Amino acid sequence: MSNHWEAKLSENFGIDASLESLDGEYDLNFFANASSKKYVLKVMRVGCEPDFINMQCAAIRMLNGKNLCTPEIIPTVSGADFASVNDEEGNLRLVWVIKAKSGVCYSKIYPRPIDFIYDLGKKIGGLNKALKEFDHPYLDRDFKWNLMESNWITDYLYLISDNDRKDILIEIIEEYNSVLHKANKLPQFAIHNDLNDYNILATSDISEGVKVSGIIDFGDMIRSPHICELAISCAYIALDQENPIKTIADLVGSYHTKNPLTELDLDLLFIFLKMRLAVSVVNSTMMSKENPDDAYITISQAPAWRFLDQKFDANMVLAKLRLACGFEVIKNANRILDYLHKNRGSFANIFQSSIEHAPMVDLSISGTALPQNPFDLRLDEAAKIGSDINADYWLGFWGEPRLIYTSQAFRSGKYNNSNRRSVHLGIDIFTNSGHKISAPLEGIVKTVENRKFHLDYGGVVILEHNNNHGDKFYSLYGHLNPSVLKKLSVGQIIEKGEIFCELGNENNNGGWAPHLHLQLSLSLECMNSNWPGVSDPDELNFWGKLCPNPASLLNLDDDKTGYKKIDKKIIQDERKSNFGGNLKLSYKNPLMFVRGWKHYLFDQMGRTYLDAYNNVPHVGHSHPRIQRIATKQLQQLNTNTRYLHPILNEFSKVILDTMPDKLNVCYFVNSGSEANELALRLARTATNGQDIITPDHGYHGNTNAAVEVSAYKFNKPNGIGCKPWVHIVDVADDYRGEFRRSDPNRASKYANLVDRALSQIKLREGKLAGFISETFPSVGGQIIPPSGYLSKVYEKIHTAGGICIADEVQTGLGRLGSFFYGFEQQNVLPDVVVLGKPIGNGHPIGVVVTTKEIAKKFDNGIEFFSTFGGSTLSCAIGVEVMKIIHDEKLQKNAFLRGESLFEGLLNLQLQHPIIGDVRGFGLFVGVELIVDNNLTPATEIAAYIVNRMREKRILIGVEGPADNILKIRPPLTIDNNDIDCIISALDECLNEVKTFTS
Ligand code: PMP
Repeated sequence: MSNHWEAKLSENFGIDASLESLDGEYDLNFFANASSKKYVLKVMRVGCEPDFINMQCAAIRMLNGKNLCTPEIIPTVSGADFASVNDEEGNLRLVWVIKAKSGVCYSKIYPRPIDFIYDLGKKIGGLNKALKEFDHPYLDRDFKWNLMESNWITDYLYLISDNDRKDILIEIIEEYNSVLHKANKLPQFAIHNDLNDYNILATSDISEGVKVSGIIDFGDMIRSPHICELAISCAYIALDQENPIKTIADLVGSYHTKNPLTELDLDLLFIFLKMRLAVSVVNSTMMSKENPDDAYITISQAPAWRFLDQKFDANMVLAKLRLACGFEVIKNANRILDYLHKNRGSFANIFQSSIEHAPMVDLSISGTALPQNPFDLRLDEAAKIGSDINADYWLGFWGEPRLIYTSQAFRSGKYNNSNRRSVHLGIDIFTNSGHKISAPLEGIVKTVENRKFHLDYGGVVILEHNNNHGDKFYSLYGHLNPSVLKKLSVGQIIEKGEIFCELGNENNNGGWAPHLHLQLSLSLECMNSNWPGVSDPDELNFWGKLCPNPASLLNLDDDKTGYKKIDKKIIQDERKSNFGGNLKLSYKNPLMFVRGWKHYLFDQMGRTYLDAYNNVPHVGHSHPRIQRIATKQLQQLNTNTRYLHPILNEFSKVILDTMPDKLNVCYFVNSGSEANELALRLARTATNGQDIITPDHGYHGNTNAAVEVSAYKFNKPNGIGCKPWVHIVDVADDYRGEFRRSDPNRASKYANLVDRALSQIKLREGKLAGFISETFPSVGGQIIPPSGYLSKVYEKIHTAGGICIADEVQTGLGRLGSFFYGFEQQNVLPDVVVLGKPIGNGHPIGVVVTTKEIAKKFDNGIEFFSTFGGSTLSCAIGVEVMKIIHDEKLQKNAFLRGESLFEGLLNLQLQHPIIGDVRGFGLFVGVELIVDNNLTPATEIAAYIVNRMREKRILIGVEGPADNILKIRPPLTIDNNDIDCIISALDECLNEVKTFTS
């Protein structure tokens, strides 16, 4: 068949191309591949009216040059829009050609990034605006896909066998019919009418992101109100999205910027959207009856049903659409707010005395360490909030993010870093229990209840009020004495100033320190019976508008009672001006954390991040035992090593207990850099040599001598370069390096490279001081040298009279699971071991351990003293860290969680060829990403993944000379649920990457 059409294409359009058949409901469509250009040949159904093509061509031509990604028409050789051509059966067919657009249907793009949604909304808005000027008689034909005439589906509901689903459709049709008269009054224009996931093309590029590249197929154009266009577009963009209503609101909001919508449009939009999906499922059910063997027809209905099966709160959807377009959250919201504002100062006092001067107390995430465990507020913590505050009344902020809401009811999703409601939507007034409470203005009792659950409200009352325009609004009083149930009944009128309840205590108010939670709501429509008192920070734009600051009811200023968050931009700008430019931040959009707990970090709004990157908090962020020991030690004493103190000895003993017998002398310093600096001094003093051999890409610290032996730093552009006394050997990377895993002698071959370095030292008449390496090179790419490598190297170094330094800053203290130190895996005995970061769990401690012989040589009459190294505080913390590793069996946890992580990563490797290598031990893991079989590093993709993981609230890093190795290195407290979370998020990111690379 295509031969026939290839000839016709050439004859009528002068295009020589090979054809490939495309999908189409009624017509034949071909993709035409000419040598440098690509076209689409459209062969219309037999009997197609010329007007059908005329309409499309006229519209497309009108849209040309408007930056709307619409197609370009290729005229026939005689300059017409289309030709009449016989098909192989001799039927006359109208044929026309358009230039093909780049990109893929957006059905293939998952997830749909927000920038793409915005781009699409603007394009559709622009399209509708431009088509306002367009007219054509063919727009008024009868058409089953005319959303304004869709209730024909009623006659086919009998085909839907599932009664629950039939009920859903009936409800949608009834709602649609009830508003159709309003829609019929809207102005009607030409619309595309089929902006579904196959008629919008998108290009995706790792640096540019996803962009609309084509709006195609104008064959369904009709005359209709604009909401039909938007309803259809929204219906398809939202299917199978994680947060469909947000996706719809984002699209509608950006559409509105180009083609403004009215409040009535928004009232109708979601109803029409559901109706379009109803038409779609009924239509495909009809088709599946006609083609019972075509399983695809049924499968293709599934996303629409998944959407329709969900119970969306239509009022909430409408409110979110209104906000997206800049309207009030509900109609007349501003009138209610005006009323409240004007009456501020003349409402009756809720408490018997004025609270005008009551202090505000910061209970925010950055303002308090409450609760100690951000996932579990203890009973005693809840009951004692503010017990140290000396005031008759004190207030808690509206809009304040807090971590005290810890029960599962405040969390969604299955992981600890899933969304969580944290932002307070009321004002708290803390005072003694038993205080009487009066109504600030007249109200009718709408609800009176006792919510007995732990950390719920206890007694709670909702009053309904009226402004003088008849708009209703509501106030909620929580944590009351439940005796209120005996006094009030629903419907009862409470006069302004009338006492109607009293404050409860921790035994009857849900377990909290006595306080009133006062909340305002402008509507009951979006609230279920259980008013949310706190909001997810990502939903605050909505909840904060619906439940605004109730300060006016307390005759207070919004400014006093509204929480002001830390301005991240100011922090970033100040930092930029006060520090050197090379004090780097992680991520394009940097993170600001204000709390930590175990392997989690919290931003100021309470969003929880899974920390799978930081190794400093070895036993977990903010460990309670470290908090306690540090406090106690600071209360008692913090001095230096010039005085005797048992804790100094204890710290040395707990470290030496983990070392081979020969390593039995300690030095305490303040950092890994300082420890390496000292290690180099020990080696040089002990050998009288200066020359150091070290593997490429290593890192040992930021001091002068440490940088000199850190190729990762000195070899960077503008680095200090390699000093004559430093000799680099290839890092023993048996995945990418010269000697690979297939070579059984690779360990010896890498070790033999030391011989050349030794010869160079001889040549320059230098003297070897020693060899320094990270036992498993980390910044070099989480490298695990082949077994036997270090023992061969150490042998050569010892034979040449040098000292072997093992930098265990990254690998020590149980992280590797199977080994407490990396040198155990390599079966070697170093002469000097360097420990750093994790040993202080955030407190700056560095430790050097060596042999008696080396220590003796170093003890040459010159005092060794580091003012803060080995301070009483540092030693107390160091001892506690070592004990916690033991008591909490963290090495074993590293082993077990490491096993799960490895298994998960190896499974991902089977599905994602971009994962070239997975390597590591325990919780020291590297995932090397490659583009092809030549191991070309997938540098851009690695950066993309790290940033996307951050958006999914998981911190990982990227390492290696080509920045293509994902580094996973969490605190040792991580559990299996978190490992699951990492694997599934990584899987999602790798799937996203497929859209860029396919
Ligand atoms: N050695 C290694 C292996 C390290 O990873 C680091 C720090 N990343 C250091 C030494 C230097 O430690 P510090 O930053 O505490 O000086």
